[in-house]
Amino acid sequence: MALVPREAHLRTSAPVTIDEDKCIADKGCTVCIDVCPMDLLAIDPETGKAFMKFDECWYCMPCEKDCPTGAVHVAIPYLLR
Ligand code: SF4
Ligand code: SF4
Repeated sequence: MALVPREAHLRTSAPVTIDEDKCIADKGCTVCIDVCPMDLLAIDPETGKAFMKFDECWYCMPCEKDCPTGAVHVAIPYLLR
């Protein structure tokens, strides 16, 4: 079990961040939500943009790779690099 600070699991430090200026979920894109095998991403009803709903990321990366606008950034923890 890797030693990850407890704070790393809080929403404020979610490993997957979405650049809301680039995200086109409000135009119908759901690519990152569809490709996440863990079902961690969702559309925020307030902003109409994608966001990380649950922080249980496997760092498998399709959300970042497949986003058509490059809005998704997955911050891989130092210990996994
Ligand atoms: S794949 Fe990219 S553009 Fe599409 S909903 Fe996800 S973050 Fe937004
Ligand atoms: S890296 Fe994988 S598990 Fe994490 S949010 Fe993206 S698709 Fe989901």
